Amino acid sequence: MISLTELKDILNNNDREFVEDLAQKARETTIQYFGRVVSLYAPLYLSNFCDNYCIYCGFQKNRQVKRKKLTIDEMHREMQKVSAAGIQNILLLTGESREKTPVDYIKGAVQAAKEYFPSISLEVYPLEVDEYRELFSAGVDGVTIYQETYNKARYKALHPGGKKADYQYRYSTPERVAQSGIRMINMGVLLGLSEVAEDIYHLFLHLEWMEKHYPGVEYALSFPRLIPLKNSFNDYIEVSDITLIKLICMARLLFPRVGINLSTREPAAIRDHALMLGVTRISAASKTTVGGYSLCHANTKAPQFEVMDNRSVKEIVEMLEQKGFDPVFTDWRADGIRNQLRPFGGRGTASLRRPFGPS
Ligand code: SF4
Repeated sequence: MISLTELKDILNNNDREFVEDLAQKARETTIQYFGRVVSLYAPLYLSNFCDNYCIYCGFQKNRQVKRKKLTIDEMHREMQKVSAAGIQNILLLTGESREKTPVDYIKGAVQAAKEYFPSISLEVYPLEVDEYRELFSAGVDGVTIYQETYNKARYKALHPGGKKADYQYRYSTPERVAQSGIRMINMGVLLGLSEVAEDIYHLFLHLEWMEKHYPGVEYALSFPRLIPLKNSFNDYIEVSDITLIKLICMARLLFPRVGINLSTREPAAIRDHALMLGVTRISAASKTTVGGYSLCHANTKAPQFEVMDNRSVKEIVEMLEQKGFDPVFTDWRADGIRNQLRPFGGRGTASLRRPFGPS
C-alpha cells in the first residue's frame, strides 16, 4: 500500500511527463482487467426526507425544501421511464430518514424495481445486518455507502446531528453489508470536505481492510466532488480536474480489479476522458430529483446536486462506441428476468459478465 507521503507527492506533482506516465499505466491496467467494457446505470430518487444535518447538503433536515416520497404507483411510473431508455442497473436512493422511509418502504421499492431491472443497488441510510439480509433476499445486489470524510474532527463538525453523527457506525457499514451476503459494495468520500490526500489515503486503507476480511465481495469506488449549494456552504476545498484524474489513476493502479464509478455530477468532457484511465461504470441520463423522470410536480424540483452531463442514454452509448468501448447494460442477473428493451441494438447492448466476477 502506498504511504500518505507518497500519495501527497503524487497529488502535488503536475509535471506533464509524470502525469502522462501515470495515465498510461492506469490505462494499460484498466484494459488488462476490464477490457473495454463500461457498465451503465441510472439513479432513481425515492425520497428526499432526511433526519440528518449535513451542513453541505440541500436535503438536510433544517433546510426549507419541499419534501416528497414516491408512492408505489409513482415508483412504477419512474421505473418504467428509466427502463424504457434501456437501463437495466438501477440505483435506488433516499435521504436518510428511517422514520419516513423505513425498511419496509425500501423493500417495496426493491420489489417494484425487480419488475424492470435485473440489477438493483441501494444508497440509503446505514442498516443493520439483518435488514441488509432482508433486502438482499428481496433482490438487492449492491450498496453504496460513503464515509464522506475520514477526518474525525471534520466529520463531527460537518455532521452535527442525527444518526449520521455517529462516525463509527457509518464506518462499520461496509462490514455489515458484506456480512449480509450482498454482492457489491461501492465506497467513497465526498471530495472537498477535507484534505484530499488524507481522505483518499484512509479510503484506500478502508477498502484494503475490507478486501482482506471480506474477499468474496465485489468492490467499487466513487470519487464525487462536492458541488456546494449557492451561498450556503463555502468551507470546502476545490478539487481540480487534474487531481480527480490522478485519484482515478491511483485507485486503478492500487486496486486493479475494483470498479470505478463516475456520475453525471461531472461534466461530459471529464467523464469521457476518465473512461480511458480507469472508470468502468457511469450513470446515464440521470435525474437527481424525486420523481424527476416522469412526475412534474413543483414539489419535486429540488435536486440533491445539479447534473452536469445531460446526455441521453442513446448519446452515451454512441459516445462509448465511437471511442471503442463496449457499453454494457448489465453484467449481473440473478434470475430469468431480462429487460427486453434494447433500443439501440448492436454489440454494445449485450449483457456481459466479467470473467473474474465473484459468482
Ligand atoms: S448528505 Fe445525505 S444524509 Fe446528509 S443531509 Fe443530505 S441526504 Fe441527508
